[in-house]
Amino acid sequence: MKKVVKFGGSSLASAEQFQKVGNIIRADEDRRYVVPSAPGKRFDGDTKVTDMLYDCYAAAEAGEDFTEKLQNIKARYDAIIEGLKLDYSLDEEFEIIKKNFAEKSGSDYAASRGEYLNGKILAEYLGYDFIDAAEVILFDEDGAFDAEYTNRKMAKRLKKHEHAVIPGFYGAYADGKIKTFSRGGSDITGSIVARALKADLYENWTDVSGFLVTDPHLIRNPQVVDVITYRELRELAYMGAAVLHDEAIFPVRKAGIPINIRNTNRPEDPGTMIVATTSQKSRWTITGIAGKKGFAAVTIDKDLMNAEVGFCRKVLTVFEDNGISIEHMPSGIDTMCVFVDQEVLQEKEQLVLSGIQRAVEPDTLEVQADIALIAVVGRGMRQTRGTAGRIFSALAHANVNCRMIDQGSSELNIIIGVKNDDFEKAVQAIYDIFITTQL
Ligand code: ASP
Repeated sequence: MKKVVKFGGSSLASAEQFQKVGNIIRADEDRRYVVPSAPGKRFDGDTKVTDMLYDCYAAAEAGEDFTEKLQNIKARYDAIIEGLKLDYSLDEEFEIIKKNFAEKSGSDYAASRGEYLNGKILAEYLGYDFIDAAEVILFDEDGAFDAEYTNRKMAKRLKKHEHAVIPGFYGAYADGKIKTFSRGGSDITGSIVARALKADLYENWTDVSGFLVTDPHLIRNPQVVDVITYRELRELAYMGAAVLHDEAIFPVRKAGIPINIRNTNRPEDPGTMIVATTSQKSRWTITGIAGKKGFAAVTIDKDLMNAEVGFCRKVLTVFEDNGISIEHMPSGIDTMCVFVDQEVLQEKEQLVLSGIQRAVEPDTLEVQADIALIAVVGRGMRQTRGTAGRIFSALAHANVNCRMIDQGSSELNIIIGVKNDDFEKAVQAIYDIFITTQL
């Protein structure tokens, strides 16, 4: 078996955390390719090294003295090296970084040093080879990640190494200039390495024991999902559930490689498996609940709307022309309702309303704000009768009024619109009916 293991920032924030990571890697000889993040927070209120680097580079770019800021970053790494009792020094690396900062080599270069240096230390600690991601992850001249070229180049390079550390988060343009992914992008690197290696498993080690049924800010200690499909994860991630970078799914999905989310601080926990498809039923009828506040609904009524060819298109064109993306669009015979992000709409509200007025001359046109959308997602819903009924009776018992219902035709999800103020209560009621009462 071949496994790619990626460790997040909190898993590599201190020497103590490095030791846990070392133990995890040594416990399984299939864990031969390792992708590290930069050192993250050691405690609440601490600063991630990536943020320190952005800050330090901003000072350099403004022509200010950045010596102390850079010293503080070096101190973070030195503490790790000392704690691990390594005979290793980053003095030369920091000389180069200092020179490049002074020459204004770019904030992407600056941020990438977080993973680069952590990768150097980790390779030294494990006795693994170090592969600079700048040599194997390529971006095209428009700044788009070049997936196919990277895949070939990475695959060829990995063949030469039995064991290697490949730092996360960055790659380079053809001319060697460093470019990073968006924040949290080490997850993408891990996925790219797994695809190129044709790995059997991509393990993503973090500080939670897997993907949670719902947001722990809403429900205390929610249950961990044991198996989730890529599609279910996409639906939940879109509604704000976060465990992985959104784009991290694509490389492994192409190659059909499962992802296992694991907890560095509790390696005995099995975590969550993210798979393409599964015959395994979820433990509960639903797999997860996610949601967001802050949507607005534009409702358009017009008699005989259904007979007017092109009515929907004309309305939607107004949103498109104003650069507003549409979230949901439940409709009736003579009524159509468009859900959009409230903040985005507010900037252009009057333009949109007058545009719709002109385009379709509705009988009435209304805007309602402060709506929250909740997605209840589960591959098991299709086989189970009464799921929608259970959701709505739970909401009724909790005294929550449902403003909108939208069930996707794949029956993978049900989207519910409620008042912002009812959001927490609604999530609690749905969680309780499917999970708490089944424990
Ligand atoms: N260190 C980067 C960040 O903080 C990338 C990562 O951790 O994945 O966003």
